[in-house]
Amino acid sequence: MKNIIISLDGHSACGKSTLAKMISDHLSYVYIDTGAMYRAITLYFIKNNLIDQDNNLSKDFINHVDNIHIDFAKKSNEEKFTVRLNGVFVEKEIRTLEISKLVSSVSKNQIIRSKLIKLQQSYGAENNLVIDGRDIGTVVFPYAQIKFWITASEKIRAQRRYLEFQKTNSDITFKEVLEDIKRRDNEDENRTISPLIKPDNAMEIDNSYLSIEKTFQTALTHINEMMKDER
Ligand code: C5P
Repeated sequence: MKNIIISLDGHSACGKSTLAKMISDHLSYVYIDTGAMYRAITLYFIKNNLIDQDNNLSKDFINHVDNIHIDFAKKSNEEKFTVRLNGVFVEKEIRTLEISKLVSSVSKNQIIRSKLIKLQQSYGAENNLVIDGRDIGTVVFPYAQIKFWITASEKIRAQRRYLEFQKTNSDITFKEVLEDIKRRDNEDENRTISPLIKPDNAMEIDNSYLSIEKTFQTALTHINEMMKDER
């Protein structure tokens, strides 16, 4: 039987990952956070001084691509799968504003995208997946059986991300977070390769005024409905 792929696409900080994790826990499907993969590769380029002052990748990046290994693993039996860069867990390091500021310039590169998309598709060949990102229902898994387009107002998204940042780094202002979100959305929507667009047949959930639980229940109702057709 074909693996089931549930894709969630949408703008930055719209709650895709939170919802995707809840769905994957509920269905016992593998969860893949593709944003974490682009963030981890950006971390590699920063660490190796491969991003110039204008936020562009230096030409030398090409010589490094084959040495970058991204995967997901568990630190211990109790923990969830999180992203690794060349065998090192980097979940904490990739959630900084510095990475957020540079990741969109890295992710518009065709060579980087091809490498990560291939990896994402390989996960789908082996598992039932819940996978979130910007191009999942359009490019990575255009034939995903169940697609979501998650959205929320810009200000609400910024407020949620700001609260998250405050837990770890209280120096960041609301204005900085809002600007980062606006800039990333703009870059992700307007790039030539795999731009962020709503996939055909995706169910839209605007969670601006929905609780996490209500958002989850809405998604689950749709999944159950769609699964009936799959059986
Ligand atoms: O989801 P998250 O905010 O962590 O994604 C970080 C960035 O990675 C996005 O702003 C986007 O530039 C890039 N990305 C992408 N395609 C994906 C997932 C993320 O281009 N499938």
